[in-house]
Amino acid sequence: MSAQADLIIIGAGFYGLRLALRYGAKGMKITVLDRLPEAMTKASYINQARVHNGYHYPRSYITAKASHDNYQRFMREYPECVDNNFTHLYAVARSGSQISEYQFQQFCEIVGSPLLPVRPDEAALFNQDRIAAVFRADEVAFDAAALRRTLLAEISAYSNIAIHYNTDVTALDQTGGAITVTTNNGDFTAPRVLNVSYSNLNDIIRRARFLEAEKELLNIDIEIAEVALCTAPPELQHIGITIMDGPFWATLPFPADRLRSLTHVRYTPHTSYSSRQVATPPEEILSAYHAETNFYHMRADAARYVPAVAEFQYARSLFTNKAILANHDHDDARPILLKCHSREPVFISVLGSKLDSIYALEEAMADYLD
Ligand SMILES: Cc1cc2nc3c(=O)[nH]c(=O)nc-3n(C[C@H](O)[C@H](O)[C@H](O)COP(=O)(O)OP(=O)(O)OC[C@H]3O[C@@H](n4cnc5c(N)ncnc54)[C@H](O)[C@@H]3O)c2cc1C
Repeated sequence: MSAQADLIIIGAGFYGLRLALRYGAKGMKITVLDRLPEAMTKASYINQARVHNGYHYPRSYITAKASHDNYQRFMREYPECVDNNFTHLYAVARSGSQISEYQFQQFCEIVGSPLLPVRPDEAALFNQDRIAAVFRADEVAFDAAALRRTLLAEISAYSNIAIHYNTDVTALDQTGGAITVTTNNGDFTAPRVLNVSYSNLNDIIRRARFLEAEKELLNIDIEIAEVALCTAPPELQHIGITIMDGPFWATLPFPADRLRSLTHVRYTPHTSYSSRQVATPPEEILSAYHAETNFYHMRADAARYVPAVAEFQYARSLFTNKAILANHDHDDARPILLKCHSREPVFISVLGSKLDSIYALEEAMADYLD
């Protein structure tokens, strides 16, 4: 006998929890399934923690503008989940950057993301031979642990939302007008199923035995990504830095672990592959991967731009699978991906490429579920 719901959500990441709240608030009986013992431990925890305000996407106006438009909304909804106790400096490299100082300023003005002049002591942190310009930006970091607490507290007010942890989805079958989801923890049936399993989206699609899975697979690349966590010397303790726009790096507070992250365009991705072509589940590939940290390469390169980075002390690294829509290297755009595999019963896969994309997604979902 399988447990019945109105909507099954596969994945208790930020996206799964937000969508559970949205449809739980409409009175639907929601079942959330996650293979792990806790919510928001994968991509929603292991990331750069940047609440995007548009600056980061100078090659995709649409992505930048959407982030900027969503920024204030996120800040209003989750004020207790952000760290704004630091100054975020965006710098433009003299060589190797895909954007000039002038172009970056123009772009930010068009998007509406404010750039302010830096103080002399902030400018002095940078190696002027390598950095053309530095600006103060209005962009904070989120605390994934606080976000998880907030979302779970909101969910606990709804008796119609149930989260089942340690519940690994192994198959999906159509049973009349509904879908039965088979797990190690029993079967669950609903007329609507949302697949928000991020890097496992294609793995779940492959398990949907009522679909011609090969035709439904999403064009997603998976990167094994390293977020290095470290501590900073006093002069950088309340500073975040992002160098634009090329094979550079960023360091931001990582509030959930009371540390800071160091990430690098060249060294954070360890390896990548197409999840359409490789059928092995990404989690298996990640567990088999013998990861050695790239922190020391990141630090050595970063210190050429900001010498005090040489004093960063390594704490540990978090490795996770990053899911990226294929064919966006040229513009770095981060559109949402929503694919409806079937409408009766409803089976939809969703890739949320940044936290703020949730707002666009919720609008798009209205056509299918509201
Ligand atoms: C390295 C990195 C840096 C990033 N930096 C930023 C940033 O600075 N700012 C930003 O806004 N975004 C950033 N992102 C993107 C952001 O983290 C994601 O868009 C977001 O977390 C996706 O949320 P999600 O709920 O879809 O995925 P997840 O949080 O990964 O949740 C998916 C869930 O599905 C579950 N699941 C998978 N398979 C199964 C199964 N078979 N059965 C049951 N459950 C299953 C997993 O256990 C997991 O809990 C970054 C991502 C990465 C990886």
